[in-house]
Amino acid sequence: MTTIQTNLQHIKSTLPDGVRLVAVSKFNPNSAIEEAYAMGQRLFGESHAQELVPKAQSLPKDIQWHFIGHLQTNKVKQVVPYVSCIESVDSDRLLFEIDKQAAKIGRVLDCLLQFHVAQEATKFGFSYDECVALLDSEVFGRLHNVRVCGVMGMASITDDQQQIRGEFRRLKQYFDTLKSTYFAQNDSFCELSMGMTHDYPLAVLEGATLVRVGSGIFGERMYQH
Ligand SMILES: *Cc1c(COP(=O)(O)O)cnc(C)c1O
Repeated sequence: MTTIQTNLQHIKSTLPDGVRLVAVSKFNPNSAIEEAYAMGQRLFGESHAQELVPKAQSLPKDIQWHFIGHLQTNKVKQVVPYVSCIESVDSDRLLFEIDKQAAKIGRVLDCLLQFHVAQEATKFGFSYDECVALLDSEVFGRLHNVRVCGVMGMASITDDQQQIRGEFRRLKQYFDTLKSTYFAQNDSFCELSMGMTHDYPLAVLEGATLVRVGSGIFGERMYQH
């Protein structure tokens, strides 16, 4: 096995049933993705439109691509035909634009609502109040080409495990409250995407259903985004 394949096998062995792995392949070439694909991995994450589109066009069609980075509204049109889920919906405007572009090509696209729970000011995402305002709005009820499937977030970059766990716990609370308030009758609202290479074991303990692991599989990237 290659290093990528050994890493992938190890990480998968640490995940309990019911937790799916998004292999975050950003800044890695097709050849790296193909190594993971050969091991049966079908779910990959990308964070830039200009990188996702050529990869999706050239790699096997049974790969599911999750978009996980900050998405500008003017890039939505490029991304929508290729992804199975946009995990990083961080504004009303973005959700409306995804709905519009998905309608144009006759799709209903799965989306996760990204929450800001980290200490860093730079992380994108809704606050709980902003999200509730969106879900309560009349316009939300008129979106027919997006399907809100859950919640996504990132913890602070810190060595403080209690801090990280607390942030994951908060995301889980947001998920649970939204589920019971807005999506109780909706079986597709079931995903909690949290945890990356350095903190995914804590995310699993706090109830993640999707973990997004990049460098732990593919090695350290030259560029950190
Ligand atoms: C890059 C990235 C990841 C993966 O990060 P690693 O530390 O390499 O595992 C996960 N989620 C998001 C949103 C990312 O941008």
